[in-house]
Amino acid sequence: MAAMRTSQTLIPTLKERPAEAEVANHVLLLRGGFIRRLGSGLYTWLPLGLRVLRKVEAIIRGELNRRGAQELLMPVVQPADLWRESGRWKAMGPELLRLQDRHERDYCLGPTHEEVVTDLLRRAVDSYQRLPVNVYQVQTKFRDEIRPRFGVLRAREFTMKDGYSFHLDAASLDQTYQAMHDAYCAILRRIGLDFRAVQADGGNIGDSESHEFQVLASSGEDVIAYCPASGYAANLERAEALAPPPQENEAANALAKVATPGCKTIARVAEFLGVEARRCVKTLMLRGSEAPLVAVVLRGDHELNEAKARRLGGVATPVAFADEAAIRAATGCGLGSLGPVSLPVPIFVDRSAAALANFVCGANEDGFHFTGVNWARDAAGAMVADLRNVQLGDPSPDGQGPLAFARGIEVGHIFKLGTKYSAPLQLAVQDREGRAATLTMGCYGMGVTRLVAAIVEQCHDDAGIVWPPAVAPFDVSIVALDYARNKAVREAAEAFYKACGEAGLEALLDDRDERAGVKFAESDLIGAPHRVTVGARNLKNGMLEYKARAGGASELVPAAEMAARIAEAAKRVQG
Ligand code: ATP
Ligand code: MG
Repeated sequence: MAAMRTSQTLIPTLKERPAEAEVANHVLLLRGGFIRRLGSGLYTWLPLGLRVLRKVEAIIRGELNRRGAQELLMPVVQPADLWRESGRWKAMGPELLRLQDRHERDYCLGPTHEEVVTDLLRRAVDSYQRLPVNVYQVQTKFRDEIRPRFGVLRAREFTMKDGYSFHLDAASLDQTYQAMHDAYCAILRRIGLDFRAVQADGGNIGDSESHEFQVLASSGEDVIAYCPASGYAANLERAEALAPPPQENEAANALAKVATPGCKTIARVAEFLGVEARRCVKTLMLRGSEAPLVAVVLRGDHELNEAKARRLGGVATPVAFADEAAIRAATGCGLGSLGPVSLPVPIFVDRSAAALANFVCGANEDGFHFTGVNWARDAAGAMVADLRNVQLGDPSPDGQGPLAFARGIEVGHIFKLGTKYSAPLQLAVQDREGRAATLTMGCYGMGVTRLVAAIVEQCHDDAGIVWPPAVAPFDVSIVALDYARNKAVREAAEAFYKACGEAGLEALLDDRDERAGVKFAESDLIGAPHRVTVGARNLKNGMLEYKARAGGASELVPAAEMAARIAEAAKRVQG
């Protein structure tokens, strides 16, 4: 990509922090003139932003292509019939933007392309000899997000790299899955990000293998539980809470019903009875898929994990709490007094709550609780499952030490899909014995536009963006002081600008008639790795001033050597 002059480039920077922006990437990409908002969740990529986006895409393509993935391009507009075949025309909610053509045929804007690519394969491949197939595209997606926010981090229209692989057997899928896992790590390393590959919830695809690629950032929406000792890392949605040892040495107390007037929260009940919250259980009532209600019981100091609840048999999806009227009709009491003793609905109990002895729970009667409750004697039949979020200091599921937490931004997500799409769409080929074999699939998503936002979220300071060199819009920012009036400055700046081109460096020359303060501030805001100031005073000694955006003191360098010096430094960084 070429060098540019500020005077001739559309870089509409903003001096003020835009009111609508809450997080760093949104503020800085708007202020630096990288993106502009068109409407809710809709963004234009301006010349500077597009330069970054194209560099990120090039890194992604490079790592995928060298691992044998092939690029193609599928339509954004997708026929509804394909989505009816997979069952997702019904299953997808309002996130799917639906539209009709002039013949009143139904379509959607693609939020993802599993249906389209599966349809492609069933028409294009009929023999195992053509397998495996691993294809990807870099394409616009549309999802009518309920809360678009943080700029391009969670937009409605965005660019995704989505890849899909097709295999005769699980071993072949494993191989490609691992190759794509490696590709994602290589991409994020080449960009220069601090990230973690974490075990992820497979969503509706059940327990099959899935990883997310999380860029670490304090503003991230995702919580990662990790074990510093072993390297175990999982999304909080997925991280397994181990069962604690049971309190079997405690003799069972008598079950007693006690009045707890007005105590409707665990905190109030615990305080009123003088027991620890961890010796009380809370009973949450979820909507059921078969029975109207399903109860889940957790220790008072624990939180329900919705992704884990979703995997329970009999729980309606999406997971939702039952309304109070339905609860009262079934149990005769309100929310604050529920408990697992003689509760006439299916009951799931979390492993930690199941390990309690002599605990406190609601008595299914308003204003009363039980004390001295023991599962085997008082509430046998509850099904034990892992239902809670892990907490700081919990043992890592691999037994290697306590868990710690970090926040992350999900930039990539890979899944083993199995036959989720190939079975309903009947994607089968002839195997070696000539029998029809349904293909097994993997899918590999990476948010390209979100990645740009995540980079900024991780790489910025108070003055602006600090682009990692691999994706910076420019290598060098040339601040020419008094360019309009000072001939010596103008000539030196032009000479250096030319030298940058010859040294293979991309430079942005600030040739505007602007105050020094404005030029320095914008240079920091835009965030090229290297800044070179051309000023009359230093020029008298044949010098230009160099400063690295990432920090360190400024230094004077002979004008004739500057481009070579920076090119050398840039080469070292790129390895
Ligand atoms: P999220 O949980 O953040 O909504 P998702 O699970 O819906 O993400 P996938 O369906 O796995 O995401 O999509 C693959 C990738 O596309 C994500 O890892 C993310 O980088 C990107 N992505 C998803 N939704 C958006 C969005 N609204 N705006 C920008 N990028 C997105
Ligand atoms: Mg989503």
